[in-house]
Amino acid sequence: MPATKPLRSRAAGILKSLHAARPEPRVELEHADPFQLLVATILSAQCTDARVNQVTRDLFRACPDAAALARASLPDLEAAIRSTGFFRTKAKALSGCARALIERHGGEVPRTMQEMTLLPGVGRKTANVVLGAGYGLPTGIVVDTHMARVARRLGLTRRTDPEKIESDLMHLLPVSEWIFFSIAMILHGRYVCQARLPRCGSCPLRSRCPSRDLEAKLLRRRMIRLSGREAGHRSRRRRPCPG
Ligand code: SF4
Repeated sequence: MPATKPLRSRAAGILKSLHAARPEPRVELEHADPFQLLVATILSAQCTDARVNQVTRDLFRACPDAAALARASLPDLEAAIRSTGFFRTKAKALSGCARALIERHGGEVPRTMQEMTLLPGVGRKTANVVLGAGYGLPTGIVVDTHMARVARRLGLTRRTDPEKIESDLMHLLPVSEWIFFSIAMILHGRYVCQARLPRCGSCPLRSRCPSRDLEAKLLRRRMIRLSGREAGHRSRRRRPCPG
């Protein structure tokens, strides 16, 4: 999507409103350092941050760094992270990632996108979270399901592929805002512009959003569906008994 002047000015307005609504947004995954943020982000795939935080409280006590995580047996790791879902795949990724950190980076989390995405279980999204929120390095914009949905509703992109969405957003926003924007938009998607029913009525971005009638539309659709069902029930009740 080409970054036209009106689109740039809408993006600037959205950024301003986000700053006013969420002056100091923080990632909700609990962590003490970039390593723990990396582990938590890998675990957060298809899982809530609250659940990941429950699991990592114990996991980080047992494995506070890459060396300890690399030593943990796969069955122990699987048992520890089971409740986050896809636990076999995640345990393999964590174990492989910890070993790669020890072998290639002396146990430290690297600071470049290229090195990050060569680690097992780490894609661009995870790398952007860790480099941005862990090290303060604006390497890109985090595109998860919340970011993808909200950016489309706000008319900032029409794409569905995460890397293309990221590219559209990176063209629209100054580099200095990428970390803030990533965190604030994801929180906005989690608490306001929710997938099933966005809260347009109380949304701080409402005046700048081309989808601001979405909540009303979805509610109307629900009402029509419900009244259709009610009418069906009533007509079935009225039907005379056969014979
Ligand atoms: S106005 Fe509605 S659709 Fe637009 S960002 Fe806000 S909650 Fe989402």
